[in-house]
Amino acid sequence: MSSENSSADDVRQVWDVVVVGAGPAGASAAYAAAVAGRRVLLLEKAELPRYKTCGGGIIGPSRDALPPGFELPFKDRVHAVTFSHNGRFSRTRRSKQMLFGLINRPEFDQQLVEHAQKAGAELRTGVTVQRVEQHGSAVPDRRTVAVVLQGGETLLAHAVVGADGSASRIGAHVGVKLGQVDLGLEAEIPVPETVAEDWKGRVLIDWGPIPGSYGWVFPKGDTLTVGVISARGEGAATKRYLEDFIGRLGLAGFEPSISSGHLTRCRADDSPLSRGRVLVCGDAAGLLEPWTREGISFALRSGRLAGEWAVRIAEAHDAVDTRRQALNYAFAVKAGLGVEMAVGKRLLQAFERRPGLFHAALTGFRPAWRAFMDITRGSTSLGEMVRTRPIAQRALAALDRRSATADGEVTPSS
Ligand SMILES: Cc1cc2nc3c(=O)[nH]c(=O)nc-3n(C[C@H](O)[C@H](O)[C@H](O)COP(=O)(O)OP(=O)(O)OC[C@H]3O[C@@H](n4cnc5c(N)ncnc54)[C@H](O)[C@@H]3O)c2cc1C
Repeated sequence: MSSENSSADDVRQVWDVVVVGAGPAGASAAYAAAVAGRRVLLLEKAELPRYKTCGGGIIGPSRDALPPGFELPFKDRVHAVTFSHNGRFSRTRRSKQMLFGLINRPEFDQQLVEHAQKAGAELRTGVTVQRVEQHGSAVPDRRTVAVVLQGGETLLAHAVVGADGSASRIGAHVGVKLGQVDLGLEAEIPVPETVAEDWKGRVLIDWGPIPGSYGWVFPKGDTLTVGVISARGEGAATKRYLEDFIGRLGLAGFEPSISSGHLTRCRADDSPLSRGRVLVCGDAAGLLEPWTREGISFALRSGRLAGEWAVRIAEAHDAVDTRRQALNYAFAVKAGLGVEMAVGKRLLQAFERRPGLFHAALTGFRPAWRAFMDITRGSTSLGEMVRTRPIAQRALAALDRRSATADGEVTPSS
């Protein structure tokens, strides 16, 4: 941390990087900036460990984006997926190799924060950031951002990373624009051993009754995480879907230990990722796969990039250099995560119109199931698959055509 003299008797410390929010995005950003040797402060409004509404599905790209030496606290390892279409046409697909893992977010997120701390980041919990200011009386010079906490305390930084989730205040400062907002509802349901045994190693994915919706059962030992997600604005129908889903599964008799809801947000294509010395990442930036709403890998990957570029912004001496580094960050995000989001968006548009087709393909068409396995294991990504596999390109083009005509007819092999 450097010291800046705004006057002889007003010596104020300036952090190199202040990160707002200690979820996967913020912890990754803090880790990346701290391993680069910078003085980093990570601010979190909750006390840790904190609960986060989330399935806790860890796919290959999430695993690959973790800090070195990070041991995933898996509650289960998935080797089978039961697919159903609004409770009907159930079919289970199995895999010898693990497809993906399941974690509890409080434990996983806390472990990520501990890695950032070990790398040198300082943590303050129980502090809510109210706003950031890049001009005005709170800001001693043009190289500094003021981070104003609830209660009035002001901290100074040469760069700020906003990783404060889907209701992001820092995102509002940056002007993040949203293309899609969804509501996820979830229940953590403790179950007896016999029920837990039946689910061990197997998840359920149900294509839902509301366009673009789906539900899941993710087993975590003695507890099942059961959730549904759908476009925001369908609150009552989404709630009914979750209730029906739980009832159909024979789980209505078990009292959830936690019932909660949370919004997920996807950025519009032209949404900014920075403003001045402030970058945003993870849910705060609207970085999320639009079809599955998978966001942990997006948070980890964009968080790491944000931490790396925040270091360069902290070193930038003028507005031109700051802008150059911020553009580099945006370019890095768009070149990787942006491409994946674009494919996910096309898949969601097709899925909204033809969920039955997706169900038929995943349960009855081997290449589709293989693609699902490859993506969840992390041996490829949506973007890479479409770039390198002609069959994926043809399938996506066919889906685009069919989703453009609501009553088009398509088969999985077209
Ligand atoms: C129902 C549901 C299920 C999901 N399931 C999965 C899944 O299985 N797999 C997957 O990959 N993704 C899933 N996601 C998405 C995933 O949960 C998010 O994308 C991920 O949590 C984003 O991480 P983040 O670090 O950006 O934000 P968050 O995890 O939301 O972390 C933000 C942090 O910022 C803190 N904060 C907020 N405001 C302030 C403030 N003003 N000052 C200080 N701190 C602040 C919060 O307390 C929080 O700790 C799911 C989402 C939902 C809603």
